Amino acid sequence: MKQYQHYINGAWTDPDSGEWFDTENPYTGEVWAKIARGNAADMDRAVAAAKQAFEGGWGTSLPSYRGKLLCRLADIIDREADRLGRLEVQDNGKLLAEMGGQTKYIGEWYRYFGGLADKIEGTVIPTDKPNMFNFTRYEPFGVVGLITPWNSPLLLVAYKLAPALAAGNTAVIKPSEFTSASTLEFMELIAEAGFPDGVVNVVTGFGAEAGGPLVDHPDVAKIAFTGSDLSGQKIYEKGAKKLIPVTLELGGKSPNIVFDDADKEAAVMGAISGIFAATGQTCIAGSRLLVQKSIHDEFVARLIEVAKTAKIGDPMSLDTHVGPVTTPPQFKKVMDYLDIAKAEGANCVLGGGAYTGEGAKGSQFVEPTIFTGVSNDMRIAQEEVFGPVLSVIPFEDEADALRIGNDINFGLAAGVWTSDMGRAIRMSERLRAGTVWVNTYRVVSYMTPFGGYKRSGLGRENGQQAIMAYLQQKSVWIATETSAANPFVMK
Ligand code: NAD
Repeated sequence: MKQYQHYINGAWTDPDSGEWFDTENPYTGEVWAKIARGNAADMDRAVAAAKQAFEGGWGTSLPSYRGKLLCRLADIIDREADRLGRLEVQDNGKLLAEMGGQTKYIGEWYRYFGGLADKIEGTVIPTDKPNMFNFTRYEPFGVVGLITPWNSPLLLVAYKLAPALAAGNTAVIKPSEFTSASTLEFMELIAEAGFPDGVVNVVTGFGAEAGGPLVDHPDVAKIAFTGSDLSGQKIYEKGAKKLIPVTLELGGKSPNIVFDDADKEAAVMGAISGIFAATGQTCIAGSRLLVQKSIHDEFVARLIEVAKTAKIGDPMSLDTHVGPVTTPPQFKKVMDYLDIAKAEGANCVLGGGAYTGEGAKGSQFVEPTIFTGVSNDMRIAQEEVFGPVLSVIPFEDEADALRIGNDINFGLAAGVWTSDMGRAIRMSERLRAGTVWVNTYRVVSYMTPFGGYKRSGLGRENGQQAIMAYLQQKSVWIATETSAANPFVMK
């Protein structure tokens, strides 16, 4: 059986604990590899290596050199994308049809931020002070800690690592304990691309044991985290104690809003894509489907009809539509929410339980589920399920849709389906979410800012501005003529 060590200072190394834990294939339930159980001592070693690499030259390296390495890495990723995609599926159970496409796309993050590395320019200030030359420059923080969840491991590493390295930081990554393998295999690509030892390190393990010491470490100057809002809150508190910047990409409960003037067939497909793609295990899931009352019944009937055609089964098969839930605790959480919704009086019109039919293996399949008659104050409408469970909420008119759409603690994304362009613009202005899609759903790109309002996070990833989250600005004053003016007053 494969046994994965930590990756520290360019070398594979055993965990201080001498302990390993299992990683399972969510489809078969079989243990297929052992992962090193990291602790504070491992983190100390990794952060020391990253600090040494930063101070030993990476932090002051030429941006164009970093850019070239990132572009070389992108080419290697392109070459290895199929293998990495299969590895993701083996470890997280999401569809090869999706993960394969995702790993093929990941190189673009490194290419984009590699291209950006030497385009970050300071400014010369036309200062009001006589005999002074004043300019600004951008500098990296030093060692950054990157903590990722299990649902899209390599993609979410790319969101963080590409801008972090382009900006001249070194990194210690703590991947999810459920899906560490692909991030570890990725280190072979980092080495092949020629990054100096210690620039990128990976320590695996559990949140409190390995992630906690990374956040607490005095030499970690910034944290970028993707995960649940509750973990994000704890990490933010710790970051506040150290007074370091923290970027948080957290959960969502996004409204996907269908008006009666929409292209109904496209909207049905958008609703399906919003909740059943990736088995609903995506932060941007359109888990609250708001449907205008005038079309509610006909729309839900068609939705059920299409949802019923979903082929459930082996995520490695390219014709599978819905795969297993990734982890046993997540499976239990989804099952609990099915009970909660039923107890709250929601009307289950599709699915509603574990799936054990044709194509199922292991014990982590959930039936694609639709609840109607949901009111927005129910727990099933307010809390993130992170599974293939859709709550359908009726609304009267635009004002009602806006009120319900925004009546939520989260604000990651929203969808609007309408043929009225004025309405599309009004809704996109008024929905309190970091991303609004109109007549489409679940589109992301390396060049488009992504992040949350409200409890969905702090800061943005992707797009040109994202690199600024990994840089700090310095002002430099140079006297062009020395002076012996009164030293007891400010210049
Ligand atoms: P999680 O919060 O349980 O864990 C995420 C990571 O944080 C893991 O590596 C975990 O080990 C680590 N961690 C947990 N507690 C920690 C602590 N106290 N200190 C340091 N590290 C800690 O989340 P998850 O279950 O792995 O992922 C699912 C969540 O991620 C969902 O809420 C989903 O919406 C969210 N998510 C958000 C985005 C986004 O971009 N906004 C993308 C994907 C997933």
